[in-house]
Formats: sequence, C-alpha cells, structure tokens
Amino acid sequence: MKTIKLADGRELVYELTRKNVRNINFRVKADGIVYVSAGRAVPAARIEELLSERAEYLLEAAARLREREERSEIGDTVRLFGREYPIRVISGARETALFDCGECRVFTKHGDDRAYIRQLVGRAVSERFLGLCRELNDEVRRELAEAGLVPPPTRVTIKDMSSRWGSCSYNRGHISINSRLAAYPRETVLSVFWHEYAHYWHHDHSARFYAFVERFCPEYQRWNGLLK
Ligand SMILES: [Zn+2]
Repeated sequence: MKTIKLADGRELVYELTRKNVRNINFRVKADGIVYVSAGRAVPAARIEELLSERAEYLLEAAARLREREERSEIGDTVRLFGREYPIRVISGARETALFDCGECRVFTKHGDDRAYIRQLVGRAVSERFLGLCRELNDEVRRELAEAGLVPPPTRVTIKDMSSRWGSCSYNRGHISINSRLAAYPRETVLSVFWHEYAHYWHHDHSARFYAFVERFCPEYQRWNGLLK
C-alpha cells in the first residue's frame, strides 16, 4: 500500500499489482483505496502521475460507494402476511428482491433509485401473494368438496381494489381478491376466500351466510375483523 500526497493536503492510498497487461487499470473501492493494475514496463512515476491527475474523480467515486453502503438499509419497511420486514439494499447485478432471514433483500445496481427499489419489492410481494392465493384457493375448494359441496369452476383474479377486499360473481364463476391483502396474515386472506366462496350458496350477508362461513372458518370474525 502506498500513499500519494495531493496538492491540497489530502492523501490517496493505492495498491499496485503488476500484471501482464499493456495498459493501466484503476479500481476504487468503498474503503477509499485505489487498486491499480499495471504492466511491468510502466514506470512507477508514470502511475503516480496518472493517479494524481485522477485523484479528484477517484476520491469522489470512493465517497459515493461509501455513502451507498451506509444507506444499504434505507429505513423503509414492507408488510407481508402480517409481518413487517426491513428493506435492505445490496448492490448486485441480479435486479431482484426476495424475503429472507426476516428481511426484504433487494439486489440491484441502482441502489439510489427508491422508486425502482419499491417496484422490485412490489414485484416480490405480488409473487408471494399469488402463491398464497393459489394455496388458499385449493384449500377452500378441497374442504368444500370433502363436505360434499362442489363449487363451480372459478377464475380467481388478484387486483388492486379501493373499496372492497374481495368479490364473487357467482353467475360467472369469478372471484376477485384485493392485492392489498398481501399485508395481512394468512388467516385473514383465508377468511376472505371463505367469504367469497360462501356467496355461491348464499348471495346475501344473512345469518345463514355467516353460519355457512363459520362452519368452515370458525375464527372468521377474529381474522376478518382485522380488515375493519
Ligand atoms: Zn360478501
């Protein structure tokens, strides 16, 4: 490791590796050290001359990298299935987000673009919610079938709705589930599935409707109550 004193008093630390290359390469890391690889024929004085010329740019790049690392946990959180996950941004080339070890980990090259990070997080939430909805839909249909009640073929659509958590078009065999339910516990989402499926047998919200729902989902009031 060597140090160059700059005209303004600052110092630039670099590490030189000799390689079988013709040119000189500079790579700066968040620790502020410049990693130089240069051909064996390049004089040391020439390398220091080039480093001094580029010092401003290299120090700025190091500062940017450091700032990005410090900001890796952006303080934002995301709710999934009733749990709050801190969002951690990890610089990488994968451009994806996943839920792991109690965190929502975002791998991206664009760590300072918050809107884009939110988009990746949103995509991960949608994927997980879609998986849950498939599972719950199968569960409800299986339990109904076991009770001798076979629901018609049903198309389930997940979409963002502003005024309701779900709907059932019993004539068309179509159930809509509000994508905002992804923030709520599994049991709450299940209660919405039971609610909508129950409309195949009861088109209103009468006592008989709720008796039907609670026969299959005894804790309906408790879990669905979170939505009020
Ligand atoms: Zn209803």
